[in-house]
Amino acid sequence: MEKVAIYPGSFDPITNGHVDIIQRSLKIFDKILVAVLENTQKDTLFTISERTALIRSIFSGQDKVEVKSFQGLLVDFARIHGSYIFIRGLRAVSDFEHELQMALMNRKLAPDIETFFMMPSLKYSFLSSSLVKEVYRLGGCISDLVPPLVEEKLGAKLCRTGNNVQIS
Ligand code: ADP
Repeated sequence: MEKVAIYPGSFDPITNGHVDIIQRSLKIFDKILVAVLENTQKDTLFTISERTALIRSIFSGQDKVEVKSFQGLLVDFARIHGSYIFIRGLRAVSDFEHELQMALMNRKLAPDIETFFMMPSLKYSFLSSSLVKEVYRLGGCISDLVPPLVEEKLGAKLCRTGNNVQIS
């Protein structure tokens, strides 16, 4: 039977850290279903359709990666798609507490679902979508942290302040 693993997240926007986790997961599972959370309570820079479209473009031509948006409980999404595997990325010890809590809650809701934790390459282990947005806004270089398309879309969304360091 085909092993489909779900990789859930906000992906606002997708970074090279996420891409790294997807590529590593493809070595283990037959298919990765990237589940983009449509969270009406969380302010995102990119809309749900922009976030899903970005991931689809980055993995176009890769038929083992599928991208869908979802609302509500992830375990319900998993049931609909016949998957019992979740993937989450662990960057540092600081991620662990929250991730453990979530994995155990998902296990309580759906005891047959297993969460797999994957570590990214060391060079992406400090990387987060929010840090990328912040650095970009302030004029920093993010070329090696996100796919080129993401950098281009950030340019269209954000007004950069440039390298205007203000010291008082
Ligand atoms: P969420 O809002 O669910 O944390 P994110 O889009 O920030 O969504 O992240 C989705 C998943 O990818 C989470 O498991 C997160 O820990 C992981 N992740 C985010 N950035 C990285 C990275 N640089 N390296 C590895 N995993 C990452």
